[in-house]
Parts: sequence; structure tokens; C-alpha cells
Amino acid sequence: MSKSWYPVIDYSLCKECGACFNKCKNGVYEKKENHPVVVYPDGCVEGCHGCQNLCPVGAIQYVGDTTGKDDCGCGCCC
Ligand code: SF4
Ligand code: SF4
Repeated sequence: MSKSWYPVIDYSLCKECGACFNKCKNGVYEKKENHPVVVYPDGCVEGCHGCQNLCPVGAIQYVGDTTGKDDCGCGCCC
């Protein structure tokens, strides 16, 4: 089964603040130099917007997201 929900970062917007990397406890991100890199998309929880909600520049979107920037209510790490 392929993963249907995971973050994608727009590096043209990212300011390398580290908020997404520091927020997610599921191993989705690794920090390479100062860039957050999605290395484990399978760890992302479907419906979670935790890192997107913290991103100050709107650089995070999700594959599979059709709802926009809503409160997720998923109960994971938001
Ligand atoms: S959406 Fe949630 S689970 Fe997915 S990478 Fe962001 S904080 Fe982690
Ligand atoms: S929270 Fe946004 S600006 Fe900060 S490192 Fe992540 S993608 Fe970049």
C-alpha cells in the first residue's frame, strides 16, 4: 500500500526555522544541514497538520490533503 498522506516542502518558501523538524516525533523529517527533508513519509499520520500549522511561511503541503489548513483532531502530535 502506498502512503497517501505525507508532507511536501516548498524549498522556495522554507526559511529553515526547524519548527517542522522539531515538532514531528514520528521520524518523518531529518535535518540535513538546515534543510528539513522528508525521509520517512510512512511515519506521517493521515489527517495530521501539526507541522504545517507551525510553519511560519506556509511551505508545507500534504500529498492527499483536499481539506486545506484545518484543525486535524487526529490525536497524534499536533
Ligand atoms: S503532519 Fe504530523 S505526523 Fe506528519 S510530519 Fe507533520 S507533525 Fe509529523
Ligand atoms: S517549519 Fe516551514 S519554514 Fe520552518 S523549516 Fe519547516 S518548512 Fe521550513
